[in-house]
Amino acid sequence: NSSKLGFPAFASFSTTRQLATDHNIAIVGGGAAGLYTASRILSKSPTTRIDIFEQLPTPQGLVRYGVAPDHPEVKNCTTKFNQVLQNPQVQFYGNIPVGTESDHECSVPLERLRSVYGGVVLAYGASRDRKLGIEGEDGCGSRVGVVSARLFVAWYNGLPEAQDVQLDLDSFDRVVIVGHGNVALDCARILLTDPNDLARTDITKRAVAALRKSNVRHVEMVGRRGPLQVSFTTKELREMTKLPGLEIICDRRLLESECAGEKGRRVLEASRPLKRMMDLLLKHSVDSNSPKPINENELGAGGVKGNKTFTLRFLLSPLRVLYNQVEEGLKAPQVMQFAVNRLSGPPESARAEATSEIVDIACCMALRSIGYASTPLVGAPFDHKRNIVPNIAGRVTVDQNDRNDLVPGLYVSGWVKRGPVGVIATTMQDAYRTADAVLMDMRDGNIGTGCRADIDNTLRSLGVDARRVSTEGWLRLEAYEAARGEKAGKPREKVTSVEEMLNIINQ
Ligand code: NAP
Repeated sequence: NSSKLGFPAFASFSTTRQLATDHNIAIVGGGAAGLYTASRILSKSPTTRIDIFEQLPTPQGLVRYGVAPDHPEVKNCTTKFNQVLQNPQVQFYGNIPVGTESDHECSVPLERLRSVYGGVVLAYGASRDRKLGIEGEDGCGSRVGVVSARLFVAWYNGLPEAQDVQLDLDSFDRVVIVGHGNVALDCARILLTDPNDLARTDITKRAVAALRKSNVRHVEMVGRRGPLQVSFTTKELREMTKLPGLEIICDRRLLESECAGEKGRRVLEASRPLKRMMDLLLKHSVDSNSPKPINENELGAGGVKGNKTFTLRFLLSPLRVLYNQVEEGLKAPQVMQFAVNRLSGPPESARAEATSEIVDIACCMALRSIGYASTPLVGAPFDHKRNIVPNIAGRVTVDQNDRNDLVPGLYVSGWVKRGPVGVIATTMQDAYRTADAVLMDMRDGNIGTGCRADIDNTLRSLGVDARRVSTEGWLRLEAYEAARGEKAGKPREKVTSVEEMLNIINQ
């Protein structure tokens, strides 16, 4: 189904005139990537018809289920998303999976979509997480092992499939998080924030109840490289410095020597954001080499007694998890073993190399937060090394190495196009580039128009039409959640089971 078409690879679509076409486009995935792709296509070609397929009953993807509840400003984009969904040219097909392999779930084969639509854009994101690949990661007997940060985030944000995760936050006080990215920092902040503050956000009431009972006081965030190589950002670190009663601990000797060395100074001169972050860390951290004992009389940030710690540990790569015997009624601590690393190469691209030294860190719960990953979709090419759909500037290719071997009419947008990095603004810019590729191909007659009238017959013949959630259904659910939230003094109280969502939508 591929051909050597030789499209211009990186041009962006620009015309002052609007494009009048009767093209029919399908988008697989109703998150930021899919909705921004739709919005850009419609802004340049308002007569195009766009159908958005989403396996969950709800749109918004990671904006609903990934963005931290205490970052409501990041969710302002949902106003625009609802405008896109209410555009008369757009149909939302919620609760309809495409190209999944699940036996018990009817999904629409990608080939069927490609036969109905002129173009199909894959924007289904990254619903898996990367694993550490270490001994003991998957648990031992009844011990759960290393929990995915993606699952933890999905749990407190109300994703239906994450609601059964057993965390037992009340039975231990110490959590280790592997990874130095913003997702790791989100997890640390949620674990260490006063639940009374979280209760005013759109976090689920079940998560608030569990966090109220939680005994977690100490979070250690462990990175394999040094302070100059962290992936999290200053705004998120600053939020940690403002948490009442929290002491931030790190190896200040290492921090100071990394910043003061010749290479470090050069990097910090070239990057003001990194310089600001190192200054912030130096200003607000306590030295792990000579920790002050946590003193009940000592005032922490915000004038509250310091009784919680957040420790940043550097130059450690996880090796294995060791499980102690579980004593009756007690949760015995597990130990995570780490190799001590040294860095090689320039700071901007430093590599971590393990030494023979090993350190143990005791904890009862460990989270891995080393990046999300996309999964293949049946019927679409997939690059298993990079965990993305291979593409040239949004046009899907059969394999990543052949820049001309395009799959006609198949496009990709968002994290499944470029990997799991970047904030919503990055996804928007990237979605616009994919939309431009679609627009150019529509304008140049490189894709057919498709016949969307056939889609309802197709869904009926597959037996999935009855489960569909439309835009109206989603807006009904959203209004219900907002009304429940208002009573509880929060923006919304999310419904966390698909069955309950469907009951409300179909009332
Ligand atoms: P990320 O920023 O890519 O961070 C991943 C972390 O995992 C890095 O510290 C990385 O270290 C580490 N890592 C990777 N493989 C590892 C391994 N095998 N062993 C040990 N450590 C390993 O990913 P993320 O935190 O999942 O965030 C994804 C994207 O969403 C990012 O662009 C992030 O900024 C964005 N996001 C933003 C916000 C926000 O703005 N508040 C919130 C959440 C997410 P190395 O650097 O050494 O590879």
